[in-house]
Order: sequence, then C-alpha cells, then structure tokens
Amino acid sequence: MGNDSKHRFGTRAIHAGQHPDASTGAIMPPIYQTSTYVQPKLGEPLHGYEYARVQNPTREALERNVAALESGTHGIAFASGMAAIEAFVKRRSAGDHVVYEENVYGGTHRLFVMVLQRLGLAFTSVDSSDPDALRAAIRPNTRLVHIETPTNPMMKVTDLAASAEIVRAAGATLIVDNTFASPFNQRPLELGAHAVVHSSTKYLNGHSDVIGGIIVTSDDTIAAELRFLQKAAGAVPGPFDAWLVLRGLKTLHVRKERHNANGQRVAEFLAERFGPERVFYPGLPTHPQHQLARRQMRGFTGMVSVDTGSLQRASRLVQATRLFSLAESLGGVESLVGHPAIMTHAAVPKEMRDRMGVTEGLVRFSVGSEDVEDLLADLEQALEA
Ligand SMILES: *Cc1c(COP(=O)(O)O)cnc(C)c1O
Repeated sequence: MGNDSKHRFGTRAIHAGQHPDASTGAIMPPIYQTSTYVQPKLGEPLHGYEYARVQNPTREALERNVAALESGTHGIAFASGMAAIEAFVKRRSAGDHVVYEENVYGGTHRLFVMVLQRLGLAFTSVDSSDPDALRAAIRPNTRLVHIETPTNPMMKVTDLAASAEIVRAAGATLIVDNTFASPFNQRPLELGAHAVVHSSTKYLNGHSDVIGGIIVTSDDTIAAELRFLQKAAGAVPGPFDAWLVLRGLKTLHVRKERHNANGQRVAEFLAERFGPERVFYPGLPTHPQHQLARRQMRGFTGMVSVDTGSLQRASRLVQATRLFSLAESLGGVESLVGHPAIMTHAAVPKEMRDRMGVTEGLVRFSVGSEDVEDLLADLEQALEA
C-alpha cells in the first residue's frame, strides 16, 4: 500500500507505508523488538538489516506513514521531539547562524540558547508573524530558520508561504514545528518549507503514552544528512514506541476533527466569559491572524489560551477543573490544563515571556475529544469556584 499519495488524508492515515507481514499475513506491522539481525553470509545481511539503531522495520513503517501524511517523501524518527529538533540543527556547524520564532516551545528555546549556542552556533529570536522582521533577522551566515505556527502558548500564526519565499531567497533552510496543527490541519511542505518536525508525543500519537519525534522532508540531501545523524548520534525511538505512534495515527483524522470542534467551542465559551481580546485561538474572528489561519489551515486545533488577569485567578482556575487535568503536554484525547509561565515556559527569561504575552495570568488548555458539553460544564463550575 506504499505511499498512496492518490488517497485522501484519512485513508493514508490508516494505510500509508504499511503492508501485511510477509511471513504470517498479520495485518498490523509486528513490533520488531530486536537489537540485531542474523546475517546468513558474511557481508550480506538479509534485506539490508544489520543493527537496530540503523534499521528497524516497525520504525520504518512509522516513518513512511508520517511522510505520506505530511506530503513528503522521507520520514526520520527520533526518540523525542527535542531529539528531532537537535538533529536538524546539528546538520549545521559552529559559526552558522540560526533564526527562530521567539514564541517557540520553551524546550526549543532552552536547547538553542543553553546548549547549542555554547557549541558555537549563533541564534537570533524574532517575531516571525511579521515577514519584515523575519527578513531583517537573516544574516549572510544564516543557514536555518525554525518556525512554529500556531505558537505555544499564544497561538500566534506565521504566514508559511511568505516565510518560505524569504528563507529560500536567502539560501537558508526552513523547518516548521507542526506539532500544534498536525498534518490534518496544516502541511508546511506544500507551502514551501524544506522540512517539518513533530513532537509525536502530542497529536500524532494522541494517547499520552509515548515520547517521540519525527522529521519529514522531500529533500534527498537533507534526508541523507538526518539519516546519518540518526545513526551517528543514535537518538532513535524503540520499536514499541514506534508501533504505538503508528497505532495512534490510524485515528488522527477522526481525533483531530473532534479536537478542532471542541477547541472552537471552548474558545467561544472563554471569549464570552473573559472577553475575546483575552482569548488566544486562531478560529475566533477576533484573532489578529484569523484570515491567514483560514487560508493556511483546515482547522484551528484544540489548543486555547486565556489571560485570566492575575496569577491568583489563573492558579485557582487550573486547580478547580475536574475533567481538565493539571499537567504539562498536550494533544491527547483527554483534556489538560496548564500554566505556561510556571510550567512549560519556566526556562524562558521573564522579560521575553512578558514581551510574548506569557503573563502570570495566562492559562493554556489542551482541549481533548470528550463530549464538549461536559467540558464546558467543567469550566463553568471551575470559574464559579
Ligand atoms: C512537546 C513539544 C516539543 C518537544 O517534544 P518532546 O517530544 O517533548 O521532546 C517541541 N515542540 C512543540 C511545539 C511541543 O509541543
């Protein structure tokens, strides 16, 4: 059933990259829980399989599947989203310059500034939703631009087609962290990005039981460099984790439709309570980039943030919900609530948080796929508490 680009998204989610097991006919790809492969003859491994850091059939099925969903040709899986992002930057060398969206995932900022900068790479953060600011941040030695849209947790939207044009004109490479949108809602490769990265921990797996990451590209050179890094540095996912994500992906389109619908309802509910200017969700007509989001995305995802006005109100709200569990992470079927300034974005300096709008009153919801009436009732009782 190979790449099947002729099929629609939901069909690809279920079938792409998978085929019944050749030895038994098992419809599900087996979990190849092995570290090595027996070689029948010296120097002639069976079907090319030698050692599981380098090749694993379960991982390969996952890589083919996500590549097909992102409209790319190569998928390269990693042990976590951070390992994937690190591998992409490690294609570059000391002295190279990287531009990144200032409102990226807190861990991405931490990796860039507290780890990779020490090794001689230079980083500049920018508000990439402003194309002129992006253009101005690019230097002669800029090799890489890392964008996230919608951003975490402010749900700011960057124009991907315009960014790809700017980055390509500068001879640099554009990678887009598509974790929040998922390929169901947005496909950056179709808009000109060179590569897409996911924390598959989130919507791709969707069941809060795996840490994983993956990069998709249609560029053969980038893919070969990433394959080399996957082998050379070794941050690979285990076969069981790869299998779990593959299983989760079979319902991505069904889950994501529900997340989109529930996210919209929760955003509208919060807009009524707090006022639309305090709610950050690209599906609200009052969102500053609503028109762009409508052009670029097919749905607006299940992530909603609200500025409650104070740490005290935020802290009461996140501890009063019953269905929304107070926890880091996002993108699972169960609803979560979090406080970015104290939780996910604690590593981001306070003045940078203030500039981005990540105030002490900000609360972020990952709206799950429960019945939305129950979620709204839970928010209602939590706000009354
Ligand atoms: C969670 C997350 C990451 C990091 O992924 P891990 O799987 O936790 O390593 C990167 N980017 C975004 C947008 C995320 O939400």
